[in-house]
Amino acid sequence: MAELTGLSIIGYGRGEKSSAVLQGVNPATGERLAPLFHGATLAEVDQAARLADKAFAEYSQLSGRVRGAFLRCVADKVEALGLPLVERVAQETALPAGRIQGELGRACAGLRMFAGVAEEGSWVDARIDHAEPERQPAPKPDVRSWLRPLGPVAVFGASNFPLAYSVAGGDTASALAAGCPVVVVAHYAHPGTAEMVGQAVRDAAEECGMPEGVFSLLYGAGHEVGQALVKHPLITAVGFTGSRRGGLALLQLANNRPVPIPVYAEMSSVNPVFILPGALRTRGAEIAAGLAASVTLGVGQFCTNPGLVILPEGAATEQFAAQLREKLAAVAPATMLTTGISAAYTDGLTGRQRADGVETLLPPRTDAPAQVAPALMRTNAVEFAANPALSDEVFGPATLLVTHERREEVLQLARNLEGQLTATIHGTDEDLREWAALVRILETRAGRLVFNGFPTGVEVCHAMVHGGPFPATSDGRTTSVGPRAIRRWARAVCYQDFPAEALPDELRDENPLEIWRVVDGEITARGGA
Ligand code: NAP
Repeated sequence: MAELTGLSIIGYGRGEKSSAVLQGVNPATGERLAPLFHGATLAEVDQAARLADKAFAEYSQLSGRVRGAFLRCVADKVEALGLPLVERVAQETALPAGRIQGELGRACAGLRMFAGVAEEGSWVDARIDHAEPERQPAPKPDVRSWLRPLGPVAVFGASNFPLAYSVAGGDTASALAAGCPVVVVAHYAHPGTAEMVGQAVRDAAEECGMPEGVFSLLYGAGHEVGQALVKHPLITAVGFTGSRRGGLALLQLANNRPVPIPVYAEMSSVNPVFILPGALRTRGAEIAAGLAASVTLGVGQFCTNPGLVILPEGAATEQFAAQLREKLAAVAPATMLTTGISAAYTDGLTGRQRADGVETLLPPRTDAPAQVAPALMRTNAVEFAANPALSDEVFGPATLLVTHERREEVLQLARNLEGQLTATIHGTDEDLREWAALVRILETRAGRLVFNGFPTGVEVCHAMVHGGPFPATSDGRTTSVGPRAIRRWARAVCYQDFPAEALPDELRDENPLEIWRVVDGEITARGGA
């Protein structure tokens, strides 16, 4: 691995050594990590966007096979970074090596999954309606449509997934698979990781003969670079994972442009867990143990962390609360991703402790600047309804128990929930029958409903939905995990009465690519039309 340069990657070149600098910090020790990273200038933001736009003309016309081969090459090169990459991620994030190795595998699997999606080709949702010139009272035209890439996409990586949701993560992989060049804004919390991965993507692009500008990576020593990119007229969409404040700021910028563009922001979610009476009675201890593991996984730094637990008042809940408290208390303090994130965790809990009607069962403790320990608090459905701040996400290893006396309190709480990435139900078969109304409500509130499990651990598979109504995401019709994520970067285009030789392979009658299509209203297998 070559030395880190601390410079933005702009097409096949490098940014200049500007005076606006940022630096990686080891959150466990506070040590500043070499080198200094130089923020892109506004001229460089413009250059990256222009190169991306120029690349789009060629890149969007490449076949899915060619784009797939490029993504496979990216995966190989990122994988080959190996131990030095794992070490750098560990220094910049304090995540344990095992977790980083797992995330590296997941990131490369994601790149290869989107390679497969591009190569297979059916994602373009090709539809053909043949002409009926004899139709009365008016002839029917020949109409054919498919999904086409939007154009250059700006991607803001996540601090909590420095590999799988950052420079070459899911947003980048899905956008490149769709045919969109990508300009990434490096996350300030892992700039060295970003350069290593960015260099691998850049090298793969060059090796595969991709047009210059298909990928760029920009550093920003403040919000200016990211904001300039979102406002740039040649950028056509934005992918973001992070705070609600950050996501909303970018959404507002994008909406206020002369030509507004879509922002796919994954923001905040408290991932409620409903424990129904039968399950509490029969599996209380088991659920408490599983919940404690889920709350504390990765120091609670998962967007699917279960931050709210709803359960009936009574002796079984007293026992459950004691068991959960014991499990959480046994977890040692651990370092969070940044001092800012640990400070936000501590502040969030302090606010909660001061709220009316909240009892602290396990107080937050800190042993070192970025280190935090799990916390557990408790309230009831009436107090919870009276204080909307109790619904806010506290990013970290904490959860809030909300007890209820009546079934209607639970249904009302569920109806009042903001949009969530996930909602979980623990119940027996009988519980599930009795609480069918709760399932129907939760379906309107969350992207993924989990039964007798825990929301952390998002399977990367074809049916996965990692999205949900606002504020879980800025557009609840989408997912950021799984092949459907590719649709965020495309729009349907239709051709009416075009001669066959002017049509793309995907829309020709003979179906040379053998993709799934809808022909004259029928889903057709891979044969011809
Ligand atoms: P963040 O503050 O939202 O930052 C994420 C990225 O967005 C950074 O690259 C940041 O760039 C950029 N950004 C933020 N606000 C911006 C603005 N107004 N204009 C332009 N760019 C902006 O997230 P974070 O620092 O990773 O973590 C902070 C909090 O976010 C956490 O405490 C947690 O509550 C939440 N979070 C949620 C998730 C999730 O999965 N939903 C994941 C991680 C974090 P700069 O370098 O310019 O700041």
